[in-house]
Amino acid sequence: MKKIFSDSFENWIFDLDNTIYDIKAGVFEKISNRITEYIISTLSVTRQEANLVRSNMYKKYGLTLTGLMREYGIAPDEYLDYIHDVTHPELRYDAQLKQNLNNLTGRKFIYTNASESHSKNILSLMGIDAVFEKILDIKATQYLPKPDPKSYDIMLNSFGISTDHTGNSVFIEDTAKNLKPAKLLGLKTVWIENDFNRKDYGEHSKFIDYKYYDLKSFLCDIDYRN
Ligand SMILES: [Mg+2]
Repeated sequence: MKKIFSDSFENWIFDLDNTIYDIKAGVFEKISNRITEYIISTLSVTRQEANLVRSNMYKKYGLTLTGLMREYGIAPDEYLDYIHDVTHPELRYDAQLKQNLNNLTGRKFIYTNASESHSKNILSLMGIDAVFEKILDIKATQYLPKPDPKSYDIMLNSFGISTDHTGNSVFIEDTAKNLKPAKLLGLKTVWIENDFNRKDYGEHSKFIDYKYYDLKSFLCDIDYRN
């Protein structure tokens, strides 16, 4: 693999959940539980039925929310507020992470299927909210989630990245299948490893340029020659 330098890219695009913080922190597990709870209470179904709805919507639309909106008329703002209504005592200010991110030359962005307020909450708890120039959330992509290719067009447009500059951009993400559209657009791609996505990685590895154990190991492997 070609070495990455701190000025290798003009645009560094990061997913949020399970990428910015380690999947093992358990943050997403709490959100995931809230998603199931929301479906149980809103659709008045059993836990087993809720899990089935969830898995079907995720498979069909790439994001549970998008499926719930299209097939069940769910109000997105209410859903997003509900599922992200959890505290995160496990997240800490991390000076090294902040420094490494700040040492990257270029523009830094968050591109997430979650909400902007959730992103801001997580980033500020970790002390890295000022690092990122812009957050593109699910509302801003008109509820078209990754890996829908239309979502990536909105992303490039929103971040001001012209199609002939995608080769100077890198996308870092834990959901392996979300890297494919980015790679097809010409971006370099980094998969943040996790067991949940290992099978998915196997099917999408040809769209993945780099893989790292976690965000910290990715950042620590970069050559900060400047
Ligand atoms: Mg993620």
